[in-house]
Amino acid sequence: MPAVVPPVGVGGGELGHPESAALRSSGGGRTAPLVLTGKSADPPSVAGGGVFVGIVSKNGENCGPRADRYLLQNVARKLLLAPFSPPPHKPEKKMYPHAVCSCLWWLARGSEAVEVYYSPARGKARYRGLMTCSSVWACPVCASHITERRAEEIRLALDSLRDKGGSAAFATFTVSHAHEDALKTVLDGFLAAFRYLTSKPSYKRVRARYGVLGFVRVLEPTYGRNGWHPHAHVLYCFSSSLSAAEIQCFEDDLYPLWESAAARYGLSMSRRYGLEVKKAYGSVEEYLAKFGRGPRWDISREMTKGHIKQGRSIAGLKHLTPWELLAAAGADDWRCGKLFREYVERFSGKAQLYWSPGLRALLLPDVVVEATDAELVAEAVADEFLSGKISSAEWESIKRAVGRAEVLRLVEVAAGSWDMVAEYLARILIEFPPFVPRQRGALSEGFRAMLVQLHAEQAERNRWVAPLPSAAGVA
Ligand SMILES: [Zn+2]
Repeated sequence: MPAVVPPVGVGGGELGHPESAALRSSGGGRTAPLVLTGKSADPPSVAGGGVFVGIVSKNGENCGPRADRYLLQNVARKLLLAPFSPPPHKPEKKMYPHAVCSCLWWLARGSEAVEVYYSPARGKARYRGLMTCSSVWACPVCASHITERRAEEIRLALDSLRDKGGSAAFATFTVSHAHEDALKTVLDGFLAAFRYLTSKPSYKRVRARYGVLGFVRVLEPTYGRNGWHPHAHVLYCFSSSLSAAEIQCFEDDLYPLWESAAARYGLSMSRRYGLEVKKAYGSVEEYLAKFGRGPRWDISREMTKGHIKQGRSIAGLKHLTPWELLAAAGADDWRCGKLFREYVERFSGKAQLYWSPGLRALLLPDVVVEATDAELVAEAVADEFLSGKISSAEWESIKRAVGRAEVLRLVEVAAGSWDMVAEYLARILIEFPPFVPRQRGALSEGFRAMLVQLHAEQAERNRWVAPLPSAAGVA
């Protein structure tokens, strides 16, 4: 029995798997046996307080990176359902659950069915007619799509830079922080210091000296032994090819400027970690791709299992990415769940990727205006066609069966044909019958009969009580 006590509202088996309760209760009538993900041979001990995390049927459903992302999204939905508190200067502001709670979960306004489109060129299926959140920070599903497209753009920009005879270097900016520092303090200070650095005349002189054309900045948070660690990866683009020695000189010239900019906002750093510049192509793009992929659910599960059993949180052990925090929260590490909420609250609205002014025009003249995250998520694919439609009742069954990723997989396996999905739907509609929403005001027969009897008894009592005073009055 884990000694970790889940906090109210973020707890227990719910977090382990949102639909785990439904799965447990339906265990008897199931045709495909369920196993826990991961290599563990431990049987799932539901009665003993064990937690279902990833659930995989033996024929391999619901596994793979996309299924992992949907599972992680399920955890995010549970964690972010309670709205954040309003900002202190606007205490009356009405706050809502985070948009990730509706993402690919509820039908979009005006749509009557969920549509599945398939693109033969990409070999990918996707949903339409559902709400989406376009949140690169909170939603593993949207983040994967957005970062994949942004990484492609950086790849193109680097190709273009190489064609022009330029080169690139990969810089990492960090500041020192302590375990007790709040994320808001470190993040706000860090971003202000970076803005201040890039506006300094001395920085502009360094830029000119090394022929810097511009930069692409990616913001990344991790959580480790010393608390929150927001840092930035910056891809510097140079007009010529610089040698390793020149890159080292660039770093040596840049470091004092970064140190003094950070000091202005009360932040300190060490020479070893404050700034590091490496000559490398594609590092930012690799980083983005990595962010989009997220951790493998089964690996995260393995990673967290031992600690949870001993009642310890895995937060603080190593540098955990937000998705690793989310996966740990899914394994009932409530402290990681709290950290994930804090991270989403502080990072929402911040740009993950920033191009310095003029760089896009120079390297990507055809796509000078950067698409927003929402545009990337809603982007149409040229060759896609409608593979099939899912009614809202069937969609409820799919959600209960944790089958959102599975439907897409089946469409892809069948190269856009609906046959396998139709079979799958027929099966899960029996295993997970959709909830039939009761008409407003309609009561079940048993409840109605009970009410009628109660009313009759009440009327009988009233009839007996009521005549007394009047009878006394008459007398
Ligand atoms: Zn989303």
